[in-house]
Amino acid sequence: MKKIFSFIILIVLAFVLYKPIKNALVKAPEKKEENTKITYEDILKKTDDKNIDIDSLTIYGKHLNMTFNTDKDCVLILKNNDKDLSYKLDLDNNKLILSKYINDGINLEKLDVGEYIVLLKDNVTNIYYNVLNKTDYHDNQYYTITRNGKNNLITFNEKTYNNKKYFTINVSSVKLPENIYDIVIDPGHGGVDTGAGNGKYHESKFTLDYAKSLKEELEKLGLKVKLTRESDVSIESYGEGSRTGIPYEVKAKLMLDIHLNSSGSSKQRGVEIYKASHDNNAFAKILADNIHNETNIPYSNNPMNKVDDGIYMRVYSAKDIENTKKDAKKYNFEPYNLDNDVTYYYFIRETGGIMTKAFTDGRNPKKKANPYRNMNQGVEAYLCELAYISQKDDLNMVINNKEHFINGLVKAVIKYVNE
Ligand SMILES: [Zn+2]
Repeated sequence: MKKIFSFIILIVLAFVLYKPIKNALVKAPEKKEENTKITYEDILKKTDDKNIDIDSLTIYGKHLNMTFNTDKDCVLILKNNDKDLSYKLDLDNNKLILSKYINDGINLEKLDVGEYIVLLKDNVTNIYYNVLNKTDYHDNQYYTITRNGKNNLITFNEKTYNNKKYFTINVSSVKLPENIYDIVIDPGHGGVDTGAGNGKYHESKFTLDYAKSLKEELEKLGLKVKLTRESDVSIESYGEGSRTGIPYEVKAKLMLDIHLNSSGSSKQRGVEIYKASHDNNAFAKILADNIHNETNIPYSNNPMNKVDDGIYMRVYSAKDIENTKKDAKKYNFEPYNLDNDVTYYYFIRETGGIMTKAFTDGRNPKKKANPYRNMNQGVEAYLCELAYISQKDDLNMVINNKEHFINGLVKAVIKYVNE
């Protein structure tokens, strides 16, 4: 009996002790790794005395893009005491680039709180290089999109260690300032400018109604949303408090311009999402697909400026450029420096700063200057032509299926926030 009792105690003891022993065994190597962890100091001591210049630094939507003045085979490292993040670089015109797309690069939403030293690591020699910000831009502030009521602030700083300069990205948890927003929704037209029409139906009424509902639904998800107009009024295109000024002022990441299309052809119908040139289609596709899936509205059958199903891009054509030259002559100003790479629709172009080649400088007396045209930080903007007001099936959908259109837009925005 006594033997059996001791045996049971032994088994119980073995069970109780098994887990801690196992954990101790498993955890042991981790501890060793910690002891050999490379610190900032080690890295900074090791960096080459030659720095590499950051040639350009831009933020479009939620993506940071940088180019570096070197043709060495390097990888970009964001060095944090806890981990290294590494990003592949491509060679383009003797420079290293993160991405040729403006809405690509480092997703700033994905950076955890902390300090990151920005380094280039030579893939051949394994030498680390400090990078220095030689651009005209040093004061960027990026507020992350609100998630569970929380936001981070990202800043870019130049520091010194043992007379060596280095560049850091700092991510800190902050309370979002009142004047900072996540998303701007622009209800197209307004006031005397009623937009396209069909009988008693006017585009500007629909766009305001839709934008208000979209704002309400996004706010239910905890997002901070700003409308460019709250009532049936016309608003300025350029300058402070204008359609293109607001997204800069509130540092929004995403801007959706809500419009309805119109055509002389009764057959032309469907959804069209217009994007900036050098935008990689990723979110334009999410918008087009989600609207299409939720409403059953077809992808537009308009072949002009079509990039893919529901995705469109209009740039200045030779004829458009000719027309601006005529305008310049008529109003007696120097013509703008345009090429067929420049986004045509002003609310996409003028909200993206230097990334979208914003150019309106007020020389045309018909237009005000865009004071933000030289910004290196802009909103990722899409013109959403939800349907054709001129086509009866599309118009019926817009009148009766608002909820489905809003669902499609909301689902797309959720993806923008989470991806
Ligand atoms: Zn419109």
